[in-house]
Amino acid sequence: MSLIVVGSVAYDGVETPHGKVDRMLGGAATYIALSAAYFTDVKIVAVVGDDFAQKDVDLLLSRKIDLAGLERVAGGKTFFWAGKYSPDMNDRETLRTDLNVFAEFDPKLPEAYKSAPYLFLGNIQPELQRSVRSQMNGVRLTGGDTMNYWIADFRAQLLQTLKQWDFLLINDSEARQLSGEHNLRRAAAKILDLGPHTLIVKRGEYGAILFRRDCHFMVPGYLLEDVFDPTGAGDCFAGGFIGYLSGQGISPRDGGIDVAALRRAVIYGSVMGSFCCEKFGVDRFRTLTREEIEARYQEFKTCTAF
Ligand code: AMP
Repeated sequence: MSLIVVGSVAYDGVETPHGKVDRMLGGAATYIALSAAYFTDVKIVAVVGDDFAQKDVDLLLSRKIDLAGLERVAGGKTFFWAGKYSPDMNDRETLRTDLNVFAEFDPKLPEAYKSAPYLFLGNIQPELQRSVRSQMNGVRLTGGDTMNYWIADFRAQLLQTLKQWDFLLINDSEARQLSGEHNLRRAAAKILDLGPHTLIVKRGEYGAILFRRDCHFMVPGYLLEDVFDPTGAGDCFAGGFIGYLSGQGISPRDGGIDVAALRRAVIYGSVMGSFCCEKFGVDRFRTLTREEIEARYQEFKTCTAF
């Protein structure tokens, strides 16, 4: 089974109470792909400039991530984002967003991508998300995320786009903004009327909630001793969630979907998000093994069984 991941491939500057890195590999699609690649075949659709380093290409290739859809713009510069975290790391301030080649991103799927069954649309302009889905033939499960900017300023386009999605994965403040409801249960009910049959609300260190019309499933955050850098944790959650579903071949059949598989996917999402925070940037994924992922998955089971 293969999974198409669309979004930013970037360089990031990050400052947390544990240190500062001026420039390192980042981007939502990078984190999603690195995380999902532990579970399934991943194909990236993104754009970089000719400053994108070979060592970063090599890291992605070492995880067998297909880069046929990674467009390289001659003479262009890769998207750059910089942020600084608050002392408790629950908030961050964006210091810089240089869109560079990302400003003109117009995703075109290579022929070999079009028949993939799984699609995750990272946080880009909703019209572009829609255009990617329309280039695919036979996609079985589509989902993605979005952000405050698109919810506020591109609402009509976003609502059109969401009609075609199976699941939406956003954080609690985005769920409140999108629905106009402060209460998360009511917010979820409204969002589930917009198209997706499944909503996953990420709540940072407090975990995540999976909502469907007839049930919900709550997962605590994994209790890390040290959080070094939360950048990309939400994207790694997304990668674990959709990567697991793709690896298992899970998709709606006869209008239904295996809810137990969705619950396991939320746990894998939480596991991958937690690993992401253990080192700066993507560093944890240079050494992380599938055995470590399974061990933490089992630990989640033990810690939440009653
Ligand atoms: P997260 O911590 O899960 O929100 O993901 C952070 C990643 O998203 C960083 O690696 C950034 O490069 C990337 N990013 C930040 N702002 C944007 C944006 N406006 N569009 C796309 N990607 C972004």
